Amino acid sequence: MNPRRLAPLGIGIGLGVAGAAALHTAPSLIALSSIGRHLAPSLAGVGERGHVALTFDDGPDPSSTPAVLEALDELGWRATFFMLGEMVRKAPGLAAEVAAAGHEVGVHGDRHRTLLRLGPRTTHDDIKRATDEIASATGVQPTWYRPPFGTLSVGGLLAARQLDLRVVLWTAWGRDWRAEATGTSVADDVLEGFIDGGTVLLHDSDCTSAPECWRATLDSFPLLGKGFADRGLVVGPVGEHGIAASR
Ligand SMILES: [Zn+2]
Repeated sequence: MNPRRLAPLGIGIGLGVAGAAALHTAPSLIALSSIGRHLAPSLAGVGERGHVALTFDDGPDPSSTPAVLEALDELGWRATFFMLGEMVRKAPGLAAEVAAAGHEVGVHGDRHRTLLRLGPRTTHDDIKRATDEIASATGVQPTWYRPPFGTLSVGGLLAARQLDLRVVLWTAWGRDWRAEATGTSVADDVLEGFIDGGTVLLHDSDCTSAPECWRATLDSFPLLGKGFADRGLVVGPVGEHGIAASR
């Protein structure tokens, strides 16, 4: 939730492992920014033109994810669900349902906390625990990682590399974590200035957001469907988005 709380910096993007290691002790932050999209399009989730990657963070949540799955099924859309390990432990069967419905599962961390306050070992252990939890519940080994709040420490970068996870953020969000969000506001936020080949951040749980804000997310689907269709965009998961290898 609330990625805007952390100011977009757009620095430190594009570090190779060697560069990351060299800066191991220095604070480094990667967050979404227009600069970042140009410097590191793969990290921002820029894929093939004509395609939009649809992603949902913070689930699975028994109070909201089933409704999201049903709506996606009606639209014929498949998406990527960046799951929290602590949510999967509470609802492993629902995590399995997400995968069984044809959606992609990704890792959002074990607990929803910023990496910036964690040391490298704790960061690694958090991401690994979530990855193992998701793999065990779904029978699918995740290949994508998105850090909570979209902020990534150097330790997070290294841990993702060690765990064979590719990091992806987003190019557009619905700001659907807000109490005042509506279906219209979510769709407007996503579609305003939408980049062809972009990745959209939404949420299938309110566990870190305003209560029941996922209803606005659901309400946005018909509007998003029209907006995507008007732009000739095909909806799919990150794994089918044609994101180039970053290095
Ligand atoms: Zn989140």
